[in-house]
Amino acid sequence: MTKVIDFRSDTVTLPSAAMRDAMMSAPMGDDVYGDDPAANDLQEFAADLLGHECSLFLPSGTQSNLVALLTHCQRGDEYIVGADAHTYKYEGGGAAALGGIQPQTVAFGENGSLDLDAVKSVIKEDDFHFARTRLLCLENTQHGRVQSVEYMQTAREFAHGHNLQIHLDGARMANAATSLGVSLKEIAQCFDSVSLCLSKGLGAPIGSLLFGSKPFIQEACRWRKVTGGGMRQIGMLAAAGKIALTDGFNRMQEDHDNAQYLARHLDGMAGITVRPGWTQTNMVWLEFNESCGEALSSALRESGVLVSAYGKSCRVVLHQNVDKGDVDKLVSELGSFFA
Ligand SMILES: *Cc1c(COP(=O)(O)O)cnc(C)c1O
Repeated sequence: MTKVIDFRSDTVTLPSAAMRDAMMSAPMGDDVYGDDPAANDLQEFAADLLGHECSLFLPSGTQSNLVALLTHCQRGDEYIVGADAHTYKYEGGGAAALGGIQPQTVAFGENGSLDLDAVKSVIKEDDFHFARTRLLCLENTQHGRVQSVEYMQTAREFAHGHNLQIHLDGARMANAATSLGVSLKEIAQCFDSVSLCLSKGLGAPIGSLLFGSKPFIQEACRWRKVTGGGMRQIGMLAAAGKIALTDGFNRMQEDHDNAQYLARHLDGMAGITVRPGWTQTNMVWLEFNESCGEALSSALRESGVLVSAYGKSCRVVLHQNVDKGDVDKLVSELGSFFA
């Protein structure tokens, strides 16, 4: 069987040998009773790493964001969010469906930030005609693009100046920290709550962490239970999560280097444009002259290379299970396809 090279997402990563060992030997207990030693260890370790008082392990990033929204907002409240944000667009409308929380969208700017003047213009006055605006939600990275620490600090001051809480959908914040050359703490301190995915570029098979103050996490723990996320012997998952935050985080620059390497090698190839300025972390975005995404995906699949291409664009994601040689193979396959 030929090896399949998978560039569709960093969610396809498989646990490393060290991670599997840690999972096999993890101490376990019933986490709903608070008795799982590895889960408690991960939550304390991670809270310390991000400089928040507490953290909570959840099965997915979607649930982590949902629980954050349910904790910040009551029924009839509103949160401000990017029109293309994961929380709003790719999580089944959970906040509205399950929490009665109204999204107020603002278009993302060119670099994946929310213009704070635009945000200001949609904050509602305290008037019973309006939903209560409670929360501003940012995303970092946003489609692989990094938001600066200065921007996040400004957004925090802005939010608090307008009586809003501020949440980060930091599914890929480890990529943002790697790219900025700052600690996770430096990013996390700009937010009242943060969600971070362990199961993307960090390489764990499952899991997300939600960060916040002790009262926030106590309330979030209730909403995790309500949404069916109270779990039992999760030590083996938590142990994987700890390896993700250590080994997985430490090796992340390699993915960014491979993304740059790919972008360089595609530069000037006929039929393809690398979206200028978008190769900032582990993603490379391609634009085609023709609407050939589906044809390209099936042609590459024949050669054991998987990509997410639709219409005139394609997202290539670098991660721990693809190396430079795999990137070379992709470049040569793209070259043949467009020849
Ligand atoms: C993947 C992702 C999520 C959700 O994570 P799941 O674990 O897939 O539910 C949330 N936000 C962003 C920006 C993501 O990329």
